[in-house]
Amino acid sequence: MPLSDSLPTTGDSLIDAFGRQIEYVRLSATDRCDFRCTYCMAEEMTFLPRQEVLSLEELERVARIFIQLGVKKLRITGGEPLIRRGVDRLFTGLCNLPGLQELAVTTNGSQLVDRAQHLRDSGVTSINISLDTLDPAKFKAITRTGELNTVLAGIRTAVSVGFDRIRLNAVILQGQNDDEIIALTEYALSLGINIAFIEEMPLGQVNAAGKPLEFVSSDDIYSCLADHFKLQAEPPPEQAGPARYWRIAGSETRIGLISPHSNNFCSSCNRLRVTAEGRLLLCLGNEHSISLRDHLRDGESDEMLADRIRQALNQKPERHVFDQPDEPQILRFMNASGG
Ligand code: SAM
Ligand code: SF4
Repeated sequence: MPLSDSLPTTGDSLIDAFGRQIEYVRLSATDRCDFRCTYCMAEEMTFLPRQEVLSLEELERVARIFIQLGVKKLRITGGEPLIRRGVDRLFTGLCNLPGLQELAVTTNGSQLVDRAQHLRDSGVTSINISLDTLDPAKFKAITRTGELNTVLAGIRTAVSVGFDRIRLNAVILQGQNDDEIIALTEYALSLGINIAFIEEMPLGQVNAAGKPLEFVSSDDIYSCLADHFKLQAEPPPEQAGPARYWRIAGSETRIGLISPHSNNFCSSCNRLRVTAEGRLLLCLGNEHSISLRDHLRDGESDEMLADRIRQALNQKPERHVFDQPDEPQILRFMNASGG
């Protein structure tokens, strides 16, 4: 079903105290996952009781209210969104919401062989697939439970289905996959898709000294890439938000560097997050939030919920706080915040 390009039903827009207009919301469809990536989860996880997670209907309602408030892009993430039972219904419902211009999914790729075609048919426009290594043993070590070949087959299926955009996401970790920056980029290039390298963020568990030791900076990743490829900086607006983009000369492949530590992108932050239990997070790096779920389940009208969101936006902080890689301040697992 094609996404509607008609306007939202109210002339409202979400503008925060610092003049930033919110046009992008990430919704976490679940906190559960079939992988246990070391930088994202502990080996033994306790997930939310099901009744605490927003139902698919609640997720769609929240999405509709945001779109009425001027949001144009939604990303469904998690946890692993594609393991949520019935989630295909959510994609179909979201694509039919008037005013939504872009529906994106972030996935670990484990389900894509069977699901990519349905996602495309539902109207999903772009997809990010996490891939940190091309080595099966390292893949197992990083994800603890994942199979590289399944994910590679999923990526090939996604490419064959023909999304508007596909991007690989790689978190680069010192001593684990920092020797694969070129190989991963060559792989994206061979498929004609994009790739982003993400600095590890100090969320969730840190080591005994309380530090995320594996952090590799975007500057180091850029130097490595620039030694091997001719890179052309992409013009704005591609440079808005947390990623800076370069194109590999003579190709369609763009490389993104996502730098929460070394590039403060807060001044152009146009996004909000809703966690699996319906908590509206104003900023990934701060704890400012409100429980939309409580208000939804109290029977509040769409207009009342819209007011809650507008009021909450006044709390959106000017900037996040994890600029110092050796000073993790936010200890929240990434799967819980909808990465
Ligand atoms: N399960 C899906 C996946 O892995 O793509 C979606 C959720 S995952 C939390 C979203 C993205 O966050 C992934 O690309 C993952 O690599 C990234 N991520 C998770 N923990 C991170 C961390 N501590 N620092 C930086 N990126 C992280
Ligand atoms: Fe699961 Fe994604 Fe977190 Fe890995 S990064 S454990 S795949 S939610």
